[in-house]
Amino acid sequence: MFYDGPFWATIVAARIPKDHPRYASLVTREHMKDALSRGLIHDTGLIAHGRGEAFDYLLGEASPPWARRVARSAAAALLSAKQPVLSCNGNVVALAAKECVAAAKATGARLEVNLFHRTEDRVRRLVRELEKAGGKHVLGPNPDARIPNLSSDRAKCHKDGIFGADVVLVPLEDGDRCEALAKMGKTVIAIDLNPLSRTAVHASITIVDELRRALLLIGSEAQTLKETTASATRLQRLAASWKNQQGLTRARLFMARQLRARRA
Ligand code: ATP
Repeated sequence: MFYDGPFWATIVAARIPKDHPRYASLVTREHMKDALSRGLIHDTGLIAHGRGEAFDYLLGEASPPWARRVARSAAAALLSAKQPVLSCNGNVVALAAKECVAAAKATGARLEVNLFHRTEDRVRRLVRELEKAGGKHVLGPNPDARIPNLSSDRAKCHKDGIFGADVVLVPLEDGDRCEALAKMGKTVIAIDLNPLSRTAVHASITIVDELRRALLLIGSEAQTLKETTASATRLQRLAASWKNQQGLTRARLFMARQLRARRA
């Protein structure tokens, strides 16, 4: 189990029976509620989480058959980058701090906290949370650059991080920033359960899968690529071989089939 510490007291208090068919989902909801009360996520983060849950239902709450293939391309893009960065918002840290740290270690990516509803207090809390999970030199406070053509606070970033990055992994992103990062010439890797979102469409590589599952796959694929000592050319070829629009069509058809199957 990925949650430890006093959070379990909340679960016990919430009296979620272990044999409930939606146990994992209910535990995660309690976890998100807890993250809200700890000032890690914004209220609207709960709504974004709900949208993700709905799409995960359509995916069958498991990684789709091609998930490992797209995760390999994503890992290859990060491993072959000069300055790879993993951008973290509140939901990402609340749901998957450990998985973020592990994926960052496996790929050599720097962690940077970047928020739409930005307060300096929340940035610091999230940095601390990532550090508690083992993250080192996490960026976020005192940004020294801005993403051009983006008016929200998500434009605030670091030269040593997102601003200077050639490859950025943006889990649970909003479409505006994804588009702005792509316009800067960066390779953008998205993790988004919604294959229709603007983020999914504008990213170079979109992993249509649940955040934690996708991060674990990226980490393990990066490890395998490193162990097989793939050359820089092979990594770049692997990264470029993922055809994103085809991947999104495949995800949409997969979800449509799930819907039809459930009706029958
Ligand atoms: P866009 O602006 O790109 O069209 P959006 O308005 O849906 O997308 P947000 O409101 O920021 O953007 O929502 C975040 C996205 O993250 C949603 O598309 C949701 O499906 C997805 N999401 C939420 N939770 C998860 C999760 N645990 N794993 C993967 N994706 C998730």
